[in-house]
Amino acid sequence: MALRVSVIGSGYLGTTHAAGMAEAGWEVLGVDIDEAKVAALARGELPFYEPGLGDLVRKHVAGGRLRFTTSFEECGSFGDVHFLCVGTPQRPGELGADLGQLRFAVESLAPHLRRQCVVVGKSTVPVGTAERLAAMLATTAPADGDVELAWNPEFLREGHAVEDTLRPDRIVIGVQSEIAEKVLRELYVRQLRAGVPLVVTDLPTAELVKVAANAFLATKISFINMMADLCEATGGDVTALADALGRDDRIGERFLHAGLGFGGGCLPKDIRALAARADELGVPHAATLLREVDRINLGRRTRMVQLAVEACGGNILGKRVGVLGTAFKPRSDDVRDSPALNVAAQLQLIGAHVRVYDPVARSTAESQYPTLEYVSSAVEAAADADLLLHLTEWQEFLDLDPCDLDGVVARKYILDGRNALDAERWRVAGWNYRALGRP
Ligand code: NAD
Repeated sequence: MALRVSVIGSGYLGTTHAAGMAEAGWEVLGVDIDEAKVAALARGELPFYEPGLGDLVRKHVAGGRLRFTTSFEECGSFGDVHFLCVGTPQRPGELGADLGQLRFAVESLAPHLRRQCVVVGKSTVPVGTAERLAAMLATTAPADGDVELAWNPEFLREGHAVEDTLRPDRIVIGVQSEIAEKVLRELYVRQLRAGVPLVVTDLPTAELVKVAANAFLATKISFINMMADLCEATGGDVTALADALGRDDRIGERFLHAGLGFGGGCLPKDIRALAARADELGVPHAATLLREVDRINLGRRTRMVQLAVEACGGNILGKRVGVLGTAFKPRSDDVRDSPALNVAAQLQLIGAHVRVYDPVARSTAESQYPTLEYVSSAVEAAADADLLLHLTEWQEFLDLDPCDLDGVVARKYILDGRNALDAERWRVAGWNYRALGRP
């Protein structure tokens, strides 16, 4: 059966998923309420940066297999399967998730569901959301009994979204019936034939898998950052410690990298939402652990600011600080809850002249913090700087030759917030190099 797929929400997740479904051979309709975004995507223009995704979108828009619309009526009559990919940000002033986009999307879609279909949640949600959405659909969709809800959490990483979508390391589906399972197995048949493991489970487990994965990764990062604090207190070196720890197969080296900590549109809000949900569910120790993970993580930014002040002799007022990186991680223009941008903004607030450069995240950063000074190269950011900060580990910064900055900076002092530069190389070039968790 040639299934027709609608993907509701055309952000980082939805656009990637829509293009991935088109690449798998399905006819796909992307839906968003943002008219400008829909118009750009319909022209084959990607409204954000994600390596390789623009080409995939253009290929399938040009081939006619991928279209975009703002019309839920069109979406309802088109799709056999409707994926929900809208945002679930942190609620303003609270820790829990804001499910407004999701509710609005389901309310907009349901009246147009007049025949058998499966609605599949992909957004990251507090456990229990799927059950509530299923009840909403049952009361508001004209085809009620023929509309089924399933959950299929997404694990893609920004910066690697295309490969993660085309070749995921697992597919998880939460279903209530064999019909939904059959439809999802068919949609993902290419990946399944290629040997991608499939976990079939119930709705709450599928919802929990995603937040549990993020909570685990966040905990691992905060763990090594806690060890970085112990290293600083004792003269140890956290990079050597992580190297030794990571060689243990049971621990593994990934996400064991001490530095400025995690950020972005997922990990921080997901662990907060899980903590809030754990409290609601009467599991307070889960919330306690996650709040500590969050607290350690946010403490990295404060520590980085302290180090910068120390590096300027205790007073940063009027000092020139060059900042390399604003994106929350390399290969992305996403600055949502970006530690790099947060540190840059804090330094400006305490009186430093901050000049920032990021290879792709300039416009997203500028719209969030318009008062910082944005420049177009690392050398420009470093010009006359009393201090240079490396805050997002773009390959361009790792490749930077410190000798190229001779005569550019006012003072050769670099703080490596990502523990990623070659410390020896910078020291040999005459720089004072400091990083979190290292002597
Ligand atoms: P995003 O903000 O980039 O995209 C959300 C999109 O939904 C926007 O384009 C917005 O205009 C649209 N939208 C909002 N309300 C809508 C509505 N009622 N109908 C149709 N469209 C609507 O967010 P994102 O990063 O793509 O994240 C989406 C979800 O996926 C979140 O739950 C997130 O936690 C989860 N997720 C994200 C990633 C990631 O790497 N970004 C990875 C896995 C899971």
